[in-house]
Amino acid sequence: MNRIGILELQGDFALHHRIFEEMGIGSVSVKLPRHLDGIEGLVIPGGESTTMSLLMDSFNLREPILSFATNYPVMGTCAGLILMATKVHDSRVVPLGLLDISVDRNAYGRQIMSSTEPAQFHFGEESFTLPATLIRAPKIIEVGKNVRVLGKCGEEPLIVLSGHFLGLSFHPEIDGISIFHEILFDSQSKYFWTILNQVHAA
Ligand code: GLN
Repeated sequence: MNRIGILELQGDFALHHRIFEEMGIGSVSVKLPRHLDGIEGLVIPGGESTTMSLLMDSFNLREPILSFATNYPVMGTCAGLILMATKVHDSRVVPLGLLDISVDRNAYGRQIMSSTEPAQFHFGEESFTLPATLIRAPKIIEVGKNVRVLGKCGEEPLIVLSGHFLGLSFHPEIDGISIFHEILFDSQSKYFWTILNQVHAA
């Protein structure tokens, strides 16, 4: 894939550009509906989901993102995961409903309780332990039947996949982890194919 968009309404988008740069994949900033033209995937970064929800409507991005998402992969990290959910236990966030999950905002505690925890990540025959940096992170409370949990910390789901939508409650970009960007956006990566095969087999 050539160019992936990163939603730059607010929040932590710079490090996602760096991950794509290291992968040799072009990334562009998405701030207006026309910026979705010609890209082949979208990252919704961490930040403040209440603000991002408001800005998404102020910039008339909601409908264009939903129609883009019918054809292209979307990944959300932290606040991005909240925006991709179907249900958010906070009426100030109007989510996109791309991932059939319900989430509780800030459920791992305040900013000062931010931490990096070991997450078990597994798919196909592979499994890893990865550092998961949680910053006022959302908890995934319910998972719909078409959503696959790919990673957990203890019993808590942290990584969910449904079709071409991937959501993470943590920030892989902070720890320089590119596997999730590879899974969804890099057709040269072995992980990309592993996931596609699983999706088709499901
Ligand atoms: N607490 C933020 C929210 O609910 C998410 C924090 C983050 O993206 N690191 O929007």
